Amino acid sequence: MEKKEVIYNGESVRIFGTDVPEEVLLCFTDNITAFNKIKKAVIAGKGRLNAGIAAMIFRILEGNGIRTHFIRQVSPTELLCCRLDVIPIEIIVRNVIAGSMAARLGLKEGIVPEEPVIDLCYKNDDLCDPLINDCHAVALGLATARELERIYGMSRRINDVLKPLFAAKGISLVDFKIEFGRLPSGEIILADEITPDNARFWDSESGERYDKDRFRRDMGKVGDAYRIIYDKVSEIAGSI
Ligand code: 5GP
Repeated sequence: MEKKEVIYNGESVRIFGTDVPEEVLLCFTDNITAFNKIKKAVIAGKGRLNAGIAAMIFRILEGNGIRTHFIRQVSPTELLCCRLDVIPIEIIVRNVIAGSMAARLGLKEGIVPEEPVIDLCYKNDDLCDPLINDCHAVALGLATARELERIYGMSRRINDVLKPLFAAKGISLVDFKIEFGRLPSGEIILADEITPDNARFWDSESGERYDKDRFRRDMGKVGDAYRIIYDKVSEIAGSI
């Protein structure tokens, strides 16, 4: 497999074309950013930890019948994936109120809603990924109503698979952000990894945070937190 042109030059993940037109290479870096890239740093070893976490979670999801873009891990920091037409909608699944939802609605972090909350955001850096609803998504031509139905169904299913697995290891899966893409056949599959960069993980007992909030909120020990989640996901992967 040959690495070719850069397709997406993200801070924490760079995507390259390969000699196989239907495949791309996701390269995880040690860079970390927050607040639309205003805050930046390097966390040594984060790329390896996130690539490992992402690969293990993709395997768990695939094992539960959820189609993802993951093909295989080709190096400690690189995953080979299917090339997709990525839908520019960020789906945020929330099991516990935190972050922007708490701030926007004046709620205390930690409230557990009766049902998971699902937010849609328009993926657009210039607009700072605004919150949208289904009608906006259809009006903007981002996805059809039928595709949204599938996206909601898959998002709930992903949560239903992962939440109890983390809970059994003493970790509350507070929320996560995912994206979906279309295969040439039109089938919609998961196009995004789940790592402490785009999910919140809290210790179920102490409430300690093991995710990017440690960086956003200057809490320190960011790398240690990512390592804890890597170890938890390894235990989960080893036990199923
Ligand atoms: P919030 O909307 O509360 O800031 O974020 C909810 C969840 O989605 C958090 O786990 C957060 O890390 C993730 N998230 C939201 N927006 C983005 C984004 O633009 N990039 C990444 N990597 N994660 C995001």
